[in-house]
Amino acid sequence: MEFASKLLEKAVDEMSQLPGIGKRTALRLVLHLLRQPESQTFQLAKALETMRRDIKFCKNCHNISDYELCEICANPHRTNEIICVVEDIRDVMAIENTSSYKGLYHVLGGKISPMDGIGPNDLNIQTLVDKVKEGTVKELIFALGSTMEGDTTNFYIYKQIQDFEITTSTIARGISVGNELEYTDEVTLGRSIINRIPFESSLKL
Ligand SMILES: [Zn+2]
Repeated sequence: MEFASKLLEKAVDEMSQLPGIGKRTALRLVLHLLRQPESQTFQLAKALETMRRDIKFCKNCHNISDYELCEICANPHRTNEIICVVEDIRDVMAIENTSSYKGLYHVLGGKISPMDGIGPNDLNIQTLVDKVKEGTVKELIFALGSTMEGDTTNFYIYKQIQDFEITTSTIARGISVGNELEYTDEVTLGRSIINRIPFESSLKL
């Protein structure tokens, strides 16, 4: 793609680093910004910069947060005896939208995937196991979905904690499939959390 301006080219290059944004789309977005008032672009740039610099990961559950402890972990009305294990922040948002869950979360940051070179040590698994060892947790709910990576990750964690006095459950199969968890309708997702099944019985299916 030939550009009349190096400045334009640089902006398009940066924009096209984003997933799903090719050079053509990047050019369209940049030209759109050029047509808007300057202030709009500056506000966008500032919002991204501030977000990137100031955002934190909750020290308890690894959820994205503006503070050291996220609002969910800091909420005294939520029980720390139940932990829902999810892949990423989008799953937390989806489950929170159901208003059906009053426990805490643990955000792994991905799933075990040897094909992609992601092993247990690349994920927030050890902090989860440590939490279980502390003894306050009574139940872990696996909400990782029924992909092969989800199953592998669930089973790996299950093996780490099965000797502790703890109940393990999973939300109904077919509900949470990684990225698709966020697209499941809230009523179905909420119901599947309430009607969760023992993890052991999901292994026999
Ligand atoms: Zn938290």
